[in-house]
Amino acid sequence: MVQQLKQTDEKYLRRCLELANESVEAGDEAFGSVLVSEDGRIIAEARNRVNEKTILAHPEIDLAYWAAENLSKEERTKTTMYTTGEHCPMCSAAHGWVGLGTLVYLSSAKQLGEWQTDFNLPSAPINFLPVEDIIKNVEVRGPAKGDLLGEIKKIHEINWLKK
Ligand SMILES: [Zn+2]
Repeated sequence: MVQQLKQTDEKYLRRCLELANESVEAGDEAFGSVLVSEDGRIIAEARNRVNEKTILAHPEIDLAYWAAENLSKEERTKTTMYTTGEHCPMCSAAHGWVGLGTLVYLSSAKQLGEWQTDFNLPSAPINFLPVEDIIKNVEVRGPAKGDLLGEIKKIHEINWLKK
Protein backbone atom coordinates (compact mmCIF):
# COMPACT_ATOMS: atom_id res chain seq x y z
CA MET A 1 0.00 0.00 0.00
CA VAL A 2 1.45 3.35 -1.06
CA GLN A 3 1.42 6.11 1.54
CA GLN A 4 2.49 9.72 1.92
CA LEU A 5 5.97 10.62 3.08
CA LYS A 6 6.56 11.23 6.79
CA GLN A 7 8.34 14.34 8.05
CA THR A 8 11.18 12.14 9.36
CA ASP A 9 11.82 10.84 5.82
CA GLU A 10 13.21 14.13 4.56
CA LYS A 11 16.70 13.98 6.05
CA TYR A 12 17.36 10.55 4.53
CA LEU A 13 15.98 11.64 1.16
CA ARG A 14 18.27 14.70 1.31
CA ARG A 15 21.26 12.33 1.65
CA CYS A 16 19.95 10.44 -1.41
CA LEU A 17 19.89 13.77 -3.29
CA GLU A 18 23.55 14.38 -2.34
CA LEU A 19 24.44 10.93 -3.68
CA ALA A 20 22.51 11.62 -6.89
CA ASN A 21 24.52 14.83 -7.29
CA GLU A 22 27.77 12.92 -6.76
CA SER A 23 26.64 10.47 -9.38
CA VAL A 24 26.04 13.22 -11.93
CA GLU A 25 29.39 14.82 -11.11
CA ALA A 26 30.99 11.44 -11.85
CA GLY A 27 29.24 11.34 -15.24
CA ASP A 28 26.48 8.92 -14.25
CA GLU A 29 22.69 9.20 -13.95
CA ALA A 30 21.09 10.95 -10.96
CA PHE A 31 20.22 8.06 -8.67
CA GLY A 32 21.23 7.64 -5.03
CA SER A 33 19.94 5.43 -2.21
CA VAL A 34 20.57 4.67 1.47
CA LEU A 35 19.61 1.93 3.92
CA VAL A 36 18.38 3.04 7.35
CA SER A 37 18.31 0.76 10.38
CA GLU A 38 15.41 0.40 12.79
CA ASP A 39 17.02 2.96 15.13
CA GLY A 40 17.40 5.56 12.37
CA ARG A 41 21.06 5.17 11.41
CA ILE A 42 22.24 5.23 7.78
CA ILE A 43 24.03 1.87 7.51
CA ALA A 44 24.83 1.77 3.78
CA GLU A 45 24.83 4.15 0.82
CA ALA A 46 25.07 3.72 -2.93
CA ARG A 47 24.80 5.72 -6.12
CA ASN A 48 24.45 4.81 -9.75
CA ARG A 49 27.65 3.24 -11.09
CA VAL A 50 26.51 2.24 -14.56
CA ASN A 51 29.46 4.06 -16.13
CA GLU A 52 32.16 2.40 -14.04
CA LYS A 53 30.69 -1.07 -13.35
CA THR A 54 27.95 -2.49 -15.56
CA ILE A 55 24.62 -1.35 -16.98
CA LEU A 56 23.01 -3.21 -14.05
CA ALA A 57 24.75 -1.15 -11.34
CA HIS A 58 21.68 0.63 -9.97
CA PRO A 59 22.14 1.74 -6.33
CA GLU A 60 19.14 -0.22 -5.06
CA ILE A 61 20.33 -3.60 -6.30
CA ASP A 62 23.81 -2.84 -4.93
CA LEU A 63 22.23 -2.14 -1.52
CA ALA A 64 20.11 -5.30 -1.75
CA TYR A 65 23.33 -7.31 -2.26
CA TRP A 66 24.96 -5.44 0.64
CA ALA A 67 21.99 -6.25 2.90
CA ALA A 68 22.01 -9.92 1.90
CA GLU A 69 25.70 -10.15 2.75
CA ASN A 70 25.78 -8.03 5.92
CA LEU A 71 22.41 -8.17 7.72
CA SER A 72 20.41 -10.99 9.27
CA LYS A 73 17.01 -11.82 7.87
CA GLU A 74 15.36 -10.14 10.84
CA GLU A 75 17.50 -7.00 10.52
CA ARG A 76 16.61 -6.78 6.83
CA THR A 77 12.86 -6.75 7.51
CA LYS A 78 13.41 -3.76 9.83
CA THR A 79 15.59 -1.87 7.35
CA THR A 80 14.15 0.95 5.23
CA MET A 81 15.45 1.78 1.77
CA TYR A 82 15.36 5.46 0.80
CA THR A 83 15.97 6.27 -2.83
CA THR A 84 15.72 9.14 -5.30
CA GLY A 85 13.58 7.17 -7.79
CA GLU A 86 11.12 4.33 -7.44
CA HIS A 87 12.81 0.98 -8.11
CA CYS A 88 12.90 -0.49 -11.59
CA PRO A 89 11.52 -4.07 -11.73
CA MET A 90 15.03 -5.55 -11.34
CA CYS A 91 15.65 -3.62 -8.12
CA SER A 92 12.10 -4.29 -6.87
CA ALA A 93 12.70 -8.00 -7.25
CA ALA A 94 16.05 -7.73 -5.45
CA HIS A 95 14.41 -5.73 -2.60
CA GLY A 96 11.71 -8.40 -2.34
CA TRP A 97 14.01 -11.43 -2.54
CA VAL A 98 16.32 -9.99 0.13
CA GLY A 99 13.32 -9.20 2.34
CA LEU A 100 14.04 -5.54 3.02
CA GLY A 101 11.35 -3.51 4.79
CA THR A 102 9.77 -0.22 3.80
CA LEU A 103 10.67 1.63 0.61
CA VAL A 104 10.58 5.44 0.46
CA TYR A 105 11.18 7.22 -2.85
CA LEU A 106 11.30 10.80 -4.13
CA SER A 107 9.92 10.40 -7.65
CA SER A 108 7.80 7.58 -9.04
CA ALA A 109 8.94 5.64 -12.10
CA LYS A 110 5.94 7.13 -13.91
CA GLN A 111 7.05 10.70 -13.12
CA LEU A 112 10.62 9.96 -14.21
CA GLY A 113 9.32 8.46 -17.46
CA GLU A 114 7.31 11.62 -18.14
CA TRP A 115 10.33 13.85 -17.47
CA GLN A 116 12.45 11.69 -19.81
CA THR A 117 9.79 11.93 -22.52
CA ASP A 118 9.85 15.73 -22.19
CA PHE A 119 13.59 15.57 -22.93
CA ASN A 120 13.11 13.20 -25.88
CA LEU A 121 15.34 10.62 -24.22
CA PRO A 122 15.24 7.06 -25.55
CA SER A 123 12.86 4.85 -23.59
CA ALA A 124 14.04 1.98 -21.38
CA PRO A 125 14.23 -1.53 -22.91
CA ILE A 126 11.92 -2.94 -20.21
CA ASN A 127 8.40 -2.20 -18.99
CA PHE A 128 8.09 -0.59 -15.59
CA LEU A 129 5.65 -1.90 -13.02
CA PRO A 130 4.86 -0.20 -9.71
CA VAL A 131 6.93 -1.61 -6.84
CA GLU A 132 3.82 -2.83 -5.02
CA ASP A 133 2.90 -4.94 -8.07
CA ILE A 134 6.23 -6.80 -7.76
CA ILE A 135 7.01 -6.99 -4.02
CA LYS A 136 4.38 -8.65 -1.84
CA ASN A 137 3.43 -7.00 1.44
CA VAL A 138 5.79 -4.05 1.20
CA GLU A 139 5.11 -0.66 2.74
CA VAL A 140 5.84 2.09 0.22
CA ARG A 141 5.93 5.86 0.78
CA GLY A 142 6.18 8.29 -2.12
CA PRO A 143 6.40 10.25 -4.26
CA ALA A 144 7.54 13.46 -2.57
CA LYS A 145 5.82 16.74 -3.34
CA GLY A 146 6.84 20.38 -3.71
CA ASP A 147 10.47 21.43 -3.29
CA LEU A 148 11.77 17.98 -2.43
CA LEU A 149 10.36 16.47 -5.63
CA GLY A 150 11.51 19.55 -7.58
CA GLU A 151 15.08 19.01 -6.42
CA ILE A 152 15.47 15.57 -7.94
CA LYS A 153 13.79 16.73 -11.14
CA LYS A 154 16.27 19.61 -11.33
CA ILE A 155 19.29 17.29 -10.87
CA HIS A 156 18.04 15.01 -13.67
CA GLU A 157 17.43 17.98 -15.97
CA ILE A 158 20.88 19.49 -15.34
CA ASN A 159 22.35 16.11 -16.21
CA TRP A 160 20.23 15.62 -19.35
CA LEU A 161 20.99 19.13 -20.59
CA LYS A 162 24.69 18.18 -20.67
CA LYS A 163 23.98 15.36 -23.14
ZN1 LIG B 1 16.95 -0.58 -10.82
